[in-house]
Amino acid sequence: MGPIFLSILMLAAKPTTLIQGGSVIDGTGAPRRLADVRIEGDKIIAVGHLKPKRGENVISAKGMVVAPGFIDAHSHVDGWLLQDPTAESQIRQGITTSVIGQDGGSGFPIKQMFNRYTAKHVALNIASYAGHGTIRAQVMGKDYKRPTTPAELKKMETLLATEVHNGALGLSSGLEYEPGRFSTTSELVALGKVAGAHGGIYISHMRNEDNDVLKAIDELFIIAREGHLSAQVSHIKIGSARVWGKAPEILSKMEAAQKQGIYITADVYPYTYWQSTIRVLIETQDYGDRKQWEQGLKDIGGPSHVLLGEYKPNPDWKGKTLAEIADMTGKDAVTICQEVVTETSKPEFKNGEEVVVSAMSEDDLAKFIASPRIMFCTDGQRGGAHPRYAGSFPRILGLYVRQKHLISLEEAIRKMSGFPAHRLGFSHRGEIKPGYKADIVVFDPSTVIDTATTKQPEAPPIGIPTVFINGEAVLLNGKKTGKTPGQVILRSKRLGKPAY
Ligand SMILES: [Zn+2]
Repeated sequence: MGPIFLSILMLAAKPTTLIQGGSVIDGTGAPRRLADVRIEGDKIIAVGHLKPKRGENVISAKGMVVAPGFIDAHSHVDGWLLQDPTAESQIRQGITTSVIGQDGGSGFPIKQMFNRYTAKHVALNIASYAGHGTIRAQVMGKDYKRPTTPAELKKMETLLATEVHNGALGLSSGLEYEPGRFSTTSELVALGKVAGAHGGIYISHMRNEDNDVLKAIDELFIIAREGHLSAQVSHIKIGSARVWGKAPEILSKMEAAQKQGIYITADVYPYTYWQSTIRVLIETQDYGDRKQWEQGLKDIGGPSHVLLGEYKPNPDWKGKTLAEIADMTGKDAVTICQEVVTETSKPEFKNGEEVVVSAMSEDDLAKFIASPRIMFCTDGQRGGAHPRYAGSFPRILGLYVRQKHLISLEEAIRKMSGFPAHRLGFSHRGEIKPGYKADIVVFDPSTVIDTATTKQPEAPPIGIPTVFINGEAVLLNGKKTGKTPGQVILRSKRLGKPAY
């Protein structure tokens, strides 16, 4: 071959990138090994001892771990990602795929939502559930504070079938929220059957996450068993001092269910505090009842455990705990809670409050983080005071793997990539393997950690310099490239037994 022909050949070849000299942790749980990774287009084409080719883009990963991009199994990036498509807080954590449509709320119809993400070009890969609340609202409108009629349920089933057919991962519910909390278990079983028949799963922010968490889990098991599908507990937690210590019981229930052929998994974020509305402190929603507030505050450890992350009626209260506000104002904590509800019930302050509540025990959290059945999530929202939004994944790697030795790095990576990809039915993602999509994170295992706090909830983590999504660097040597190579991931295969 003459030199001219050779150079034509080289021009015709697609440009490739070689990530050289790193320790590959492949996402299956297998031990790390020194290997180079070659990317062409949006795929990994080779893994092993590879020599750089002439003109190839070479990235040194010496001393670094090269792992599959992380999958955020429960994300609330919906909506704002279209405003801020480069997703800095996600990519800096190594997240390459965010699973949205959570807690019963999803873009509808899902096909149009997917088209919006594709047309806009976003950095992250997106996959979505079909939201139970969304579908319920489509059918029942404003008259939703009751069980469905058989005719309404039929309509919901038809809508859900279309959504799952068009690529939704399954059905998500938010049973502590409106309109989901008005649904009966049998409504959810009927819809579960539809999702399951199309190969989808059921995922739920359950009816209760504190005193009645075990009852809520029993309901999830019933829906899985009678709906003939597998199920996942969203952001699993035990948020009341009255039931602290129950994590082993919950985990053995999950194990026992598996022996009966019911596959139950969960996702967890690595913090002992949650973020929501102050209203969830009262189970009965009887906000005038002081006794209920007193019990609610006691269960989560007292007024010092509740921080107002947002409070539009009075910005002076933002960032302070109920105990601090009580000191400032001379009002007692219950009066403050009631005032917050009254003020934010006014139309001008609608959705004008949010609380961060430290209500979980470190022991329970550690058991969930270590369980092979539990994957990771951020559950994060932009603008909130909760640091999970910017810190969750590096916090697992830095605090729970390196500092506390709770699980091995290989197992943590599996729970961030291979496990969720397999569980959620993502084809050719979640592993470092030839033929797989090149979603890759390069990080320093000796320094990686979160830095976000409730005071600085968007502070970026350290130790994660380079991230590829579909073969394109979105973060390169610590710098955001501004690229938006994210793809929509449709549910791709019938989901069977998850690999643990
Ligand atoms: Zn939720």
